[in-house]
Amino acid sequence: MPDETEKPEEFPKFERVMIFSAHPDDPEFGAAGTLARLAAEGSCVNVVICTDGSEGGEDPAVPDAELSAQRYEEQRAASRALGLNECLFLGQPDGRLTPSLEFRREITREIRKFRPDLVLTHYPTYNLDTGIGGYHPDHLAVGQATLAAVYPAARNPRAFRELLEEGLEPWKVREVWIPTWTSGDYFVDITSTIDRKIAALEAHKSQFTGWENWQEEIRKRSHEAGEKAGYEFAEGFKRIKIF
Ligand SMILES: [Zn+2]
Repeated sequence: MPDETEKPEEFPKFERVMIFSAHPDDPEFGAAGTLARLAAEGSCVNVVICTDGSEGGEDPAVPDAELSAQRYEEQRAASRALGLNECLFLGQPDGRLTPSLEFRREITREIRKFRPDLVLTHYPTYNLDTGIGGYHPDHLAVGQATLAAVYPAARNPRAFRELLEEGLEPWKVREVWIPTWTSGDYFVDITSTIDRKIAALEAHKSQFTGWENWQEEIRKRSHEAGEKAGYEFAEGFKRIKIF
C-alpha cells in the first residue's frame, strides 16, 4: 500500500480568485501560467491593476493618458489570452503609491465586492534575493496594502465601517499566494500553460522594446522553478493559508 502522505497534493479549487498588481503586465510576469490554470479549472479570476501604468515607458514626450490607455488595452488582451474574467483599473498615479489607509480601504472595498477565496499580490517586503522588480516601491505598497486588507480589514466588520453603509459585508479570504519566481514554498505546475503565459506577455507590446530573447528568459526561469518541484515549468509562490 502506498503511503497516503506521499500522494502529490491535488491542485486546489477556488471559486473566485483576485490578483492585485501595481502595473499592467505584473500579473503575467509573476503568475500568468497559474492564473490560466485556475481559470481553466473553473475559477472566476479578476485582475485589479492599481496604478495607471503611466511611468512604464522611456519617452517622456508621450502623454500619460495615451500610454495608460495603451497599457490598459494590453492588459485586457493579456487577460483574454489567459481566459480570465474581468480587469479593474484603480488608476492611481504610477510610481507614487504608498500603503496608505485610503489605499487599504480601496483594496478592502474590492475584496468585499468580489469576495475572492484566493488573493494573489506582490511580495510586501524588501526581498533582495528576487529580481530588482521585486522591490519596486509600487509593488511593495500594493503587497502591504493588500495583505492589510485581507487581514484584518476585509473580515472585520469594525474596520472601515463606511463600507458596511455601502452594503459591503465582511469577507474572509482563504489563501494568499505571492509570486516569488524561482523561490517560495509552493510551486504550481505550468507546463500546460507556459505557452499561454508567453502569449499573454506578448500582449504587453509597449513593455518589450530593447529586451531581446525575453521569451527564452521566461522559459528558462520557469524551468528553474519547475526543477525545484519536479515539473517541466513552474511558478513559485509564498503560500499563506488563512484560518
Ligand atoms: Zn510592476
